[in-house]
This record gives sequence, C-alpha cells and structure tokens, in this order.
Amino acid sequence: MMSTSGSVAVLGAGVIGLSTAAAVLDLLPDVKVTVMADKFGADTTSYGSGGLFVPSLFSAGEDNKHRYRQWMRESGSYFRELLTGPEAGVAGAMALSGFLLARTEEDIEVEPPYRDDVISFREMTKQELHRLGLSEYKHGYAITTYIINQSKYLQWMQKNLEKRGVTFIQKRFTDLSELCGQFGAVVNCTSLGSRELCGDRKLYALRGHMVRVRAPWIKHWVYVDHDTYIIPGEDLVALGGSKVEGDETLIPDPARGREIRDRCERLCPAIKCAEADHEWVGLRPCRKGGIRLEIQTLSTGGRSMKVIHNYGHGTGGVAYSWGTALEAARYVRDVITPGARL
Ligand SMILES: Cc1cc2nc3c(=O)[nH]c(=O)nc-3n(C[C@H](O)[C@H](O)[C@H](O)COP(=O)(O)OP(=O)(O)OC[C@H]3O[C@@H](n4cnc5c(N)ncnc54)[C@H](O)[C@@H]3O)c2cc1C
Repeated sequence: MMSTSGSVAVLGAGVIGLSTAAAVLDLLPDVKVTVMADKFGADTTSYGSGGLFVPSLFSAGEDNKHRYRQWMRESGSYFRELLTGPEAGVAGAMALSGFLLARTEEDIEVEPPYRDDVISFREMTKQELHRLGLSEYKHGYAITTYIINQSKYLQWMQKNLEKRGVTFIQKRFTDLSELCGQFGAVVNCTSLGSRELCGDRKLYALRGHMVRVRAPWIKHWVYVDHDTYIIPGEDLVALGGSKVEGDETLIPDPARGREIRDRCERLCPAIKCAEADHEWVGLRPCRKGGIRLEIQTLSTGGRSMKVIHNYGHGTGGVAYSWGTALEAARYVRDVITPGARL
C-alpha cells in the first residue's frame, strides 16, 4: 500500500484548484495528486470569468501587498510563456490591447504595480481620450495584456493533469477532517465553499452579471471606473459588470442585463447592433483581508493533518492563479518533504 505522505489532495477544480494541482506536480513530480470537487468545468465560477490579466492591489490588505506583488509577477511570467509557446491556441491564451479608464484619481491605481507584468503599459494623453470619444474620463492607461479564455483553459489544464496521472473525483465535502490520515497534505481551493468548510466569516460573495454578445468587430477591451467593461474573447464579447453583495442567486435577471447593456452601449455605441448570445452570473469569492494562503494543522480523533488553504481570490482569481498556486505548492513541499529546502 502506498504511503499517504506521497499523496496530495486538492479540493476544488476552478482555476485555483487546477493551477495548484499543476504547480504541485511541477515541484514534486513523484507525488500522487487527486483533485476532488463537487463542480467542474462550466459549473465553476472560473469558467465564466472575463479572464483578463490586470491584477489590482485594491483588495490586498496593507500587510499583504508584497505577497500580492510576487503572485502577480509569477502569474505574469507564466502567462507570457503560455502566450509565446505552441499551446497558446488550445490553452485559450491571447494578447489583447485595451484601455483602463477612470473619472477620478481615486478610481485608478497611480503607478500600478502590474505595469511591468503586462505586455505593455503607458499613460494615455487627453488627446487620445478625446479621439476615442471618452473625454469624460480624466485618467487612462493603454495596456496590452493577457486574456485567458477560461472555457478553454480549464479544459486544457484538466486534460494535462489527467495525462500526468492526476485522479479526479466528484464529491462534495462538509467537513475537512474526513480526509484526516488519507493524504500527506490537503490543499483547500474551495473558494466560497470555505465559508462552510472552514467557518471562514471573512469570505463573502460579490455577484457579477455578464452579458455575452456577438460583436467580432470589437478588437479592444475597455474597463472604466471598476464597474463597466467590454472584453472581447475568441468568439464572443463580454459586457459587464455588476458587483452586488448579499444576493447569491445564479439566475441572470433581465433588468440587470438590460442595464449593463445600456451602460456598455453608452461607453461604446458600436455594440448597439450586436446580437445577444447569453447571460451569465458568477459569485466572486472575496475575502476581508485578502487571499488566505497559509498552512493549518487540523486535528481530529487523535490524528492530525496539514491543510494548505488557497482561496478568497475575489475579483482577480485568474490573474493571481499561477502565483498563488506556486506558493501553495511550496507549502506542500515543506509539509510532505520537511527539510527539502535546506
Ligand atoms: C463576472 C465575473 C468576472 C470576472 N472576471 C475576471 C477577470 O477578468 N480576471 C480575473 O482575474 N478574475 C475575474 N473574475 C474572478 C475569478 O473568476 C475568480 O476569482 C476565480 O474564478 C476564483 O477561482 P476559484 O478556483 O477559487 O473558484 P471556483 O471557480 O468557484 O472553484 C471553486 C471549486 O471549489 C469546489 N468546491 C467548493 N466547495 C466545495 C465543497 N464543499 N466540496 C467540494 N468541492 C467544493 C467547487 O466545486 C469548484 O470546483 C471574475 C469573476 C466574475 C464573477
């Protein structure tokens, strides 16, 4: 029988769980990894996300900013490699230029920390904003960055993990301690599920509604004042958004969809004639104080188990996915091969 110390369970199959499973295998190729989740693919929040790499520090607590910087740096390098490699097409990685705009200085990061992690970055001039018909926005950045189409990326990730021997199990957990004694380490990437699994009261859902339309003539993304965006994907253009706390229904309401469309049409009249494709609602896993990425020892019935938590990525789960996965993988290594770093 295989020793439990050489086995790792990853709970959660969104972008965080799958990235973490891949990062664990990169660091510890001989470990047996099992991914367990109640939802996969199109049923996860990650699947419908805009997939844009513009990682903000707005939700990072003051003490955590240096860690967020490292995570964005590592994610940026990873996406750069993906984009410039032969698998970009199947993995859903694209480079896309666009504009991040704000009416007031408070709504935009001065000296944004991601400026060296995106492909290119510069401040826009008043003249450029005027030429785009967007003079009401006083601050703007022209950014070329990565966009990772999650519907392709999750599928690509899962296929690669299967090829590397990872086992996938569909199961809903109500108590982490039921895994005690079964694995050398457990990585918890259950996003909002950790409210129940860990009793984490800092987690809360920020509901986002997205309208996807057919508008192949739109070739730039635009994001204004943190609330309205137009993001072209491979086939469809995503229009958003909304950030609502206290409502967790996943059914899109037509009034909100219409309001989002109106807002986007005011921002970019060229989408007025775009045919609607579908609407989607997702819950952003936000957490007061920021992402929880740490090791915890859980004990039950005289047995103990190391859990590495990696959840609470809020509005930037795709953007921070690879950096946080690498840190979680290093914790796994420290837990199952103590002294390996010495
Ligand atoms: C409208 C919208 C637009 C967005 N746009 C962007 C963007 O452009 N760029 C960006 O970086 N981010 C964006 N995000 C945020 C991003 O989508 C999330 O931060 C990210 O998807 C979180 O990933 P996750 O893997 O933690 O969660 P999820 O994708 O929700 O995955 C959680 C996993 O945990 C499993 N799970 C939970 N509880 C349990 C349990 N009890 N037992 C078993 N399994 C469990 C689930 O089944 C699932 O597999 C957007 C989000 C929304 C809603």
